Amino acid sequence: MTTPIYLDYNATTPVDSRVLDKMIPYFSEIFGNAASIDHMHGYEAKKAVDNARNTISKILGCKSSREIIFTSGATEANNLAIKGIFRRYKQKGNHIITSKIEHPSVLDTLKYLKNEGAIVTYLDVDKYGLINPEDVKKAITDKTILVSIMYANNEIGTIEPISEIGKITKEADVFFHTDAVQIACYYPIHVYDLNVDLLTISGHKIFGPKGIGALFVRSQNPYVQLEPIIHGGGHERGMRSGTLNVPLIVGLAEALRICKNERYKEVDNLSKVRDEFLGKLKEIYPDLKLNGHPSKRLPNNLNITIPGVESKVLINSLKDKISISTGSACSTTKAESSHVLKAIELCEDNIFNTFRVSTNFQSEFESNQILRILNNI
Ligand code: PMP
Repeated sequence: MTTPIYLDYNATTPVDSRVLDKMIPYFSEIFGNAASIDHMHGYEAKKAVDNARNTISKILGCKSSREIIFTSGATEANNLAIKGIFRRYKQKGNHIITSKIEHPSVLDTLKYLKNEGAIVTYLDVDKYGLINPEDVKKAITDKTILVSIMYANNEIGTIEPISEIGKITKEADVFFHTDAVQIACYYPIHVYDLNVDLLTISGHKIFGPKGIGALFVRSQNPYVQLEPIIHGGGHERGMRSGTLNVPLIVGLAEALRICKNERYKEVDNLSKVRDEFLGKLKEIYPDLKLNGHPSKRLPNNLNITIPGVESKVLINSLKDKISISTGSACSTTKAESSHVLKAIELCEDNIFNTFRVSTNFQSEFESNQILRILNNI
């Protein structure tokens, strides 16, 4: 049996071979504990972590490498950002604003914080999944401490107006967190230009390893402090205790470096091949509907409804040839329909006729191969 074509890059990406090569020595030869700086072994590990932190902070436009806090992934980074702000600043106010289309690591964290007294406003999105910055402005009250809005949606690919929202939160003196997990692979991010206070990235969405992420925590204007959620040895400026995972940290930095040097430049081509693919698919399925914004979307994402074609059946029947999914890998274990598709007001039937194709769309050859498979549904 030949391996199916992988079309689920929004769920995860393979580790780039150059990233793997960089990581390997840190599993064996350079194995020291980055906190054991009394000796050479620890010092070498610390040096690798320092370099990685520097690389990431420069690419994201940080003012200091100390603004990067390593975590076990984006789920933890989102938890740390939200719980960390709420618990630290709840005397100032207990109101948090988010959207209805956030990742479960944001929505479930906020639901949990209601037990601790948080009041949460869930903003609507339009039919493309876009948040209106004016709605953020209107929702802010004197009790608001945090706005958390994702940069790009993992299901429908819509890219949100983060810099416009950043201006509003800055003016209102409210903390602003964005989950930038899906966008970090394709577009440059400058945390200070965006006016964000906290920003999340994840290794495995950018051709880096799984189990590593980072949270940018602003240190200037204002100096943001977080209540830790993991206590212990006081690593990561006391915000996230635990021995640093040196190989994965090295891998995260290398993956982001490759995004900056190569992947940002591939965006136009990716979008072009994707749009051509969509055009050809529409010729086969004239009823096809694209979900998400037509142009403000991730260059590798298509979220498609084909009326009358049940997506679970489709995915199952094609699984020997292509690997596609209904949407979020994080909610496929729950037998519920997508909260994102509900938020863009797709009718119940169409929600079950929807699937996500997220590709590397490197070549026309690959997309023609996929078309041939989809032609035979
Ligand atoms: N946020 C978004 C937008 C995601 O797509 C994901 C992964 N599905 C996460 C957060 C969680 O990332 P991680 O797997 O690194 O915990």
